[in-house]
Amino acid sequence: MPPFVALESRVYYSRYAPDGYGRADCIMIYPPVLHVADYKNGTGIPVEAEENPQMMLYALGALETYAPIYGDSIDTIQMTIIQPNAGGVKEWSISRKDLEYWGAHTVRPAAELAYAGKGDFAPSTPNDGSEDRCHFCRAKATCTARSEMYLGLESYEAKKPALLTDAEVGGILERAAGLAAWASDLKDYALKTILNGGAIPGFKAVEGRSTREWDGGTDAAFNKLKERGVEEALLWERRPVTPPALEKALGKKPFEAVADLVVKKSGKPTLAPETDSRKSYNAAVIAFRGDCESVGAADG
Ligand code: SF4
Repeated sequence: MPPFVALESRVYYSRYAPDGYGRADCIMIYPPVLHVADYKNGTGIPVEAEENPQMMLYALGALETYAPIYGDSIDTIQMTIIQPNAGGVKEWSISRKDLEYWGAHTVRPAAELAYAGKGDFAPSTPNDGSEDRCHFCRAKATCTARSEMYLGLESYEAKKPALLTDAEVGGILERAAGLAAWASDLKDYALKTILNGGAIPGFKAVEGRSTREWDGGTDAAFNKLKERGVEEALLWERRPVTPPALEKALGKKPFEAVADLVVKKSGKPTLAPETDSRKSYNAAVIAFRGDCESVGAADG
């Protein structure tokens, strides 16, 4: 019998966390296995499947929906993260019993504490090696713990001696990685508040930069200009297509005709968090390889 498949399904796990729900990309059921798969498009931090709380919560939600139909025939929960741009496919499985135990003894007590306004806040940054929990939190703009994490950067001002240690630089960079996102969350919140009639001291809403477009379409405007003697060459920009864009447009086979003319330039060293999936920069390897390498030669 083919597996049951549900795509983009809302799953509710409010039995464990009040109002808890999520959207699972793909749920497959082929007893005794219930499989939850999630696609991640990000190129940043690779997301692990093992003990991934988001996936475990989705699996609990999927059980809430489908266990009344499949009953005890489900005993294994398989979870898959598909992240083509950072780490590929990761899989992990857990017994249904252990998952439900985690829901009852870890999630539920933590959710009860959070609902009561107790418990410890654990603000995260995009680079601290964990998934950026705050990014998906409804309180992300006005959470005091998150603001303290970023505003705490200022405590370095009064430091003696006056120079930061390398360890402090690393700590600051880790937190600063989320600073722009936090400021953007605050701006979104402030604008929404003002548009809803509230007030944020020192700020107001204004009309953003306007753009100009052709009324009636580009063709009508260009035809009129050409009738008046404006040359076609002035109306269009002509730019060469980059090798990757051309390969995408032509397909691999036709592109092979010029593949030996493509060179891959070495990228400049750039700072990345330790969790980044790329190899560490090695100047010796790059010098040995030369300033650039022929992609056609490397492939061949
Ligand atoms: S924004 Fe605050 S409440 Fe939300 S996850 Fe971060 S620390 Fe927790």
